[in-house]
Amino acid sequence: MPALTMNAHEAYGELIRIAREQSVLSSCADLLEWDEETYMPRGGVAHRAEQSAVLAGMLHERQTSARMGELLATLEASDLARGGDAPAAVNIRELGRLYRRRARLPREHVEEFARARTMAQQVWVEAREEMDFGRFAPWLETMVGLARREAGMLSAGGDPYDSLVEHYEPGMTTARLTALFGSLRAELGPLLGSIVGTRKRPRTAMLRREYPVDRQKLFAQAVAAAVGFDLERGRLDVAAHPFCMAIGPGDTRLTMRYAERSFGDGFFAMLHEVGHGLYEQGLPAEHYGTPMGMAASLGMHESQSRLWENLVGRSLPFWTHFYPRLRNVFHEALADVKVEAFFLAINRVEPTALRATADEVTYNVHIMIRFELERAMLSGALAPADLPGAWNEAYRRELGVEPRDVVEGCLQDGHWAEGLFGYFPTYTLGNVYAAQVYAASGNRDEAFARGDFSGLLGWLRDHVHTQGMKHPAPELVRRVSGREPDPGALVAGLRKKYGELYGL
Ligand code: ZN
Repeated sequence: MPALTMNAHEAYGELIRIAREQSVLSSCADLLEWDEETYMPRGGVAHRAEQSAVLAGMLHERQTSARMGELLATLEASDLARGGDAPAAVNIRELGRLYRRRARLPREHVEEFARARTMAQQVWVEAREEMDFGRFAPWLETMVGLARREAGMLSAGGDPYDSLVEHYEPGMTTARLTALFGSLRAELGPLLGSIVGTRKRPRTAMLRREYPVDRQKLFAQAVAAAVGFDLERGRLDVAAHPFCMAIGPGDTRLTMRYAERSFGDGFFAMLHEVGHGLYEQGLPAEHYGTPMGMAASLGMHESQSRLWENLVGRSLPFWTHFYPRLRNVFHEALADVKVEAFFLAINRVEPTALRATADEVTYNVHIMIRFELERAMLSGALAPADLPGAWNEAYRRELGVEPRDVVEGCLQDGHWAEGLFGYFPTYTLGNVYAAQVYAASGNRDEAFARGDFSGLLGWLRDHVHTQGMKHPAPELVRRVSGREPDPGALVAGLRKKYGELYGL
């Protein structure tokens, strides 16, 4: 039936035009958020909350318009939808999924969420400055309430937490995550125990000597460029919290944070964001604004950042190349430090209260704690006002550490202030996916030692970045690595590396 085929093609053309326009509008909201995190004066917060709410409402109205529904209904019944993993079939599948999700949320809710989020973030910053959880508690309660309401609107029965996770990681469920964390706990607990039991404590004092910030910035730019981040199509700025924000093709923004008397934390956070940035720069620009031009999931995004931060950036071949350069730049701090000692220092395993700077072995324990606490708050089992006590108790139980104050405790992450519930598990999924993808990419140690990262980046471009949302993340991992996502590669990699480093 040629006439119907024509109609489907026309409908598809219109759907893609609309999707692109929505992505452009959404990127304007992103740019406002980038500005909020970098340069906006504090006095701008109330007006920014209004800007964000208006944009979120406009965007939501377009994303859930009756016309979108008509186009999708036509297309889902057409041959275009049955094209397997052809771009049109992928775009119809994913735009349909997003449309149905968004259509369950009324505009008022979306606007209220956007407005509350901007205010809650600001109060979270102030509460940290004053080390006063009580100040943030009412806003945490508001955000938990909004997330619970949203989960209720989205949920089609079953665990409401599923519908929040689904937003970030399509195809992932609470049950699967619970099983994943269970096996990680069973595997990594004994590994951590035997590392701590060796009583081997690599010296790390050299990482806290004088590292002038202007030189750290230059070194960061040089490393970012050396691993393949295109500084003509992106930039690095300073912000209170490191993040990556893709504004559009040709504009990927990363933020960093440097401290004068610390090298490792800032550097690895930078490399982490560079990993996110490389994924964004590798997405197919011709599909911009459609699912084929978007990252597969947040977990897959995190796999790219963790891969560069840990699997590449904390490896000896990486530093075989970069250490002589680092020592040139910071000769006062590192003149008497050999590469082997530096390598040990950046891989020291030690249970601490802080997630962002946690080592590879303890990192997922921090995520597990958050996974359990946020589910408890959403289910009503834990009142948001009681979070500090529950938090400290979990850290004592799981890691044997006691946060010194709320900044080191439950105010350390801004995710809940942003309304990001169901988001934390994607960090652990990122570690799991990263290990599987990296193992499949082959050994390139010799190239790394020469400072050549193009082979790995090219491989990631082909197998992950250019795939967009062609496959849901778990399926993409299976295709790339030959296995369903499971912690086997992650655990094996950690056992090998830290077994050697700690002589287990
Ligand atoms: Zn990340």
